[in-house]
Amino acid sequence: MQRRELHRLALAWALSAWAGVPGAHAAARRPLGGPRWQADPFALGVASGQPRPDGVVFWTRLVFSPADMAQQALPQRVRCEVFADEALRQPVRQWEVETDARRGHSVHVVAGGLQPGTRYWYRFVCGDAASPVGRTRTAPHAGERVGLLRIAQASCQHYEQGWYAAHREIAQRELDFVLFLGDYIYESSNAKYRLRAHQGGVPMTLDDYRARHAQYKSDADLRACHAAHPWVMTWDDHEVVNDYANDLDNRYSDPQAFLRRRAAAYQAYFEHMPLRIGPDAEQPHRMRIHERMVWGQLAELWTLDCRQHRHHQACPDPNRGGARVVIGCDALQEAGRSMLGAEQEDWLMQGLAASTRRWKVLAQSTQMSSSGVATPMGRSSFNDAWDGYPLARERLLAGIQQARLEDVLVLGGDVHMNVAAQLRLRPNDERSPIVASEIVTTSVSSRGMGERLLASIREHNPDLCHARADERGYTWLEVRPEGVRASFRATPFPARSDSVLREQAQFLVQSGHAGVARA
Ligand code: FE
Ligand code: CA
Repeated sequence: MQRRELHRLALAWALSAWAGVPGAHAAARRPLGGPRWQADPFALGVASGQPRPDGVVFWTRLVFSPADMAQQALPQRVRCEVFADEALRQPVRQWEVETDARRGHSVHVVAGGLQPGTRYWYRFVCGDAASPVGRTRTAPHAGERVGLLRIAQASCQHYEQGWYAAHREIAQRELDFVLFLGDYIYESSNAKYRLRAHQGGVPMTLDDYRARHAQYKSDADLRACHAAHPWVMTWDDHEVVNDYANDLDNRYSDPQAFLRRRAAAYQAYFEHMPLRIGPDAEQPHRMRIHERMVWGQLAELWTLDCRQHRHHQACPDPNRGGARVVIGCDALQEAGRSMLGAEQEDWLMQGLAASTRRWKVLAQSTQMSSSGVATPMGRSSFNDAWDGYPLARERLLAGIQQARLEDVLVLGGDVHMNVAAQLRLRPNDERSPIVASEIVTTSVSSRGMGERLLASIREHNPDLCHARADERGYTWLEVRPEGVRASFRATPFPARSDSVLREQAQFLVQSGHAGVARA
């Protein structure tokens, strides 16, 4: 059967479903005018994200086959339909929006008026095409005493380095939302670990970044995972370029030129994600990704931006910018240096201090615990993670301690390894109190560091209760009033198309007792 025919059938079936509902709005039964598509304009799939008690963001982006190219120059009307049931017999609400080439024909419907803690199904219609059906869930009422929050924590999905076995498993599970902590796309390649290939070279322009995002969404497991659950997201460096910090890239490009590239990358990121806000209209190299989110009385979650507002890495290689391991770097101790930027840091500290929810969850892109190694010349520090911003880390942890916050859980990604760690005011100092707990998830597909280096990191960092970089996967989190259970779901590198994940290790964080313990 031709794809086009399939879509006709899907649409006919969908319209018959509308017609069979007495309460359906008149407009809902009216077929939407518009193109007769030769190929599926919804090939990138659908997504939902940033759940709140009264709504979520619904996303799709139209794509145009060569046969449909004439449509690309035109604005397109797209309808987003929301249902209370999987069979799409009980329509709830619908929106009609217009999109065009200036926003890459992306569609963001910021849906309100939904019920808290409720599951919904949705799809998009444009002309004679209907999208796949997505499923989402709103956040519970802010006052509700929620007993359980289930999160799939994931990051780092280099397309070339493996298949998305993690997403395939996540898509099949019952959970509240996927928490993706960055490196959604990679701009760069490493021929050594290539199982499948990026199309095109390193992206520089908006069209380049659009094409890269579209290629990532050509993966059926990733699309299924978006369609199955709402996502909550932040980004890391590879959404723009490896190791970038604020207005500086790893080649010391002219900051003005780099900010134009960053604007292109942010725009393409927004066009492909279920987000409420995109780049700033006046300053398109700025985009707010940090957000606060509430899950009943159980949890409050801050998604943080560790890239856009940070100070440049300390003591970089003058010939080759970006991250490196530094020893004897005095600049690390400069008091004003910040990972989040002063504004975001204040916003977070004020929010933490004011929070009345049991669990305070910091969802950020990198590792907060230390991973330095003692050398004859002094202790080494990886200048790109929180070790490169030690006073900012200390400010944050001291603030948590001074506010007497007991149940702070830091979630991270970026380093391509599973980590369960104690966060002390003074890292690895047994006399220093543990003030928070950290769970870093391994990468979905990106390769991790070698075991020899990791063994020495483990040896020099007793705060790391678990650190394994050899496997790929995601982390399953169950948040309950009395405690959090983190299960590292993993498969050996590389994740193949038929990989099945198993449990690597499980850790518990008890309410009222900061710190992780093996389950
Ligand atoms: Fe990564
Ligand atoms: Ca990264």
